Amino acid sequence: MAVIRDVMPAFELLQPSSIADAHKLLQQYGVDAWIMAGGLDSFDWLKDRIKKPKVLVDLSGIEELRGVRATSDGVEIGAMTTLTEIVNNPILRQSYELLPQAAELVASPQIRNQGTIGGNVSQDCRCWYYRGGWPCYRAGGNICYADTPEGRNREHAILHAQRCVAVNVSDTAPALIALDAKFVMQTRGGERVVDAEDYFIGPDVDITRLHILQPGDLLTSIRIPSTWAKTQFYFEKVRDRNVWDFPLLNVASAVVVSGGAIERLRIAVNGAAARPLRLKAVEDAVRGKPRNAATGEMAGKLAVQGAVPLQFNAYKIPLMRNLVKRAIRGAQEATWTS
Ligand SMILES: Cc1cc2nc3c(=O)[nH]c(=O)nc-3n(C[C@H](O)[C@H](O)[C@H](O)COP(=O)(O)OP(=O)(O)OC[C@H]3O[C@@H](n4cnc5c(N)ncnc54)[C@H](O)[C@@H]3O)c2cc1C
Ligand code: SF4
Repeated sequence: MAVIRDVMPAFELLQPSSIADAHKLLQQYGVDAWIMAGGLDSFDWLKDRIKKPKVLVDLSGIEELRGVRATSDGVEIGAMTTLTEIVNNPILRQSYELLPQAAELVASPQIRNQGTIGGNVSQDCRCWYYRGGWPCYRAGGNICYADTPEGRNREHAILHAQRCVAVNVSDTAPALIALDAKFVMQTRGGERVVDAEDYFIGPDVDITRLHILQPGDLLTSIRIPSTWAKTQFYFEKVRDRNVWDFPLLNVASAVVVSGGAIERLRIAVNGAAARPLRLKAVEDAVRGKPRNAATGEMAGKLAVQGAVPLQFNAYKIPLMRNLVKRAIRGAQEATWTS
């Protein structure tokens, strides 16, 4: 594993005070630049001397990247808004509670005070080998150390793996997909807006990144439309310890029930693949069905179709089946049928 040294490699620190300036710097330095938000993921890489950027573009001085604003059709969250601000924001708590619920389960209060929503959705995977500096596929090599009979792969993928079996561990990502959020980016070609689910990519698209940002791109904000405001939300995260720990799996859903039947649903799971997965087949299958244990059971089975366990993570298949089941049947029933 990596030797942790106490001196970071030298880099030039740039501290723009506007989005325009940050964008200009990122365009200028391209692959030599590293964007720093709260620094929780960034400093790990730098202190372990595994990533050695020439230039660090620190976003902390850009006021226009902070805060939660009501819009004509929902709400817009600046990329540098901290997770604690999201947990406490009254607009989000009142209408989009799913996101504060997810954010509140991230790590510890100290990490939530410093970690930002932009950093949380753009963070890298936590595979032991990759984080330790091993030259695996994701690091540009030609081997996966985790996908071997003796590899440490308890936390790894059960779906959509291709050479790399690492997973995305963001807790806020599935909540944003369930809320049908849009991610706003400044790119070389100007502003680009994508659906939350399209922000994330798997190794089939690019094995070195978990998101679509190219060098020079900046995530500026996340917009949540009012489509799912004040619907019935469900978020559940399972982790080894009940504090300060990444998810083994999590599930987020928003559902509208009408006349006793599920009228519409959005549901996403993270920790199962290199990208958070929107479960479109489940959404389609439960439409028109009652929100109860039987529908949950059916949805859970559907969700794990095609799952392939590694040597040490077979537990994730029943875990994902049960999380989806509980998200569909709802918390009220969960209290007396689990
Ligand atoms: C001990 C520990 C436990 C944790 N537990 C959890 C957990 O349980 N659940 C969870 O979801 N997360 C967890 N995290 C992650 C943490 O919550 C932060 O969200 C995450 O580390 C990154 O947030 P940050 O603001 O510090 O970003 P940084 O570390 O500064 O950046 C993270 C990455 O995103 C890029 N980036 C950041 N902002 C932008 C932007 N605006 N545009 C383009 N690229 C950007 C950076 O270049 C970097 O590659 C944990 C972290 C630690 C250290
Ligand atoms: S799972 Fe991915 S990140 Fe981990 S060792 Fe294999 S290729 Fe590298």
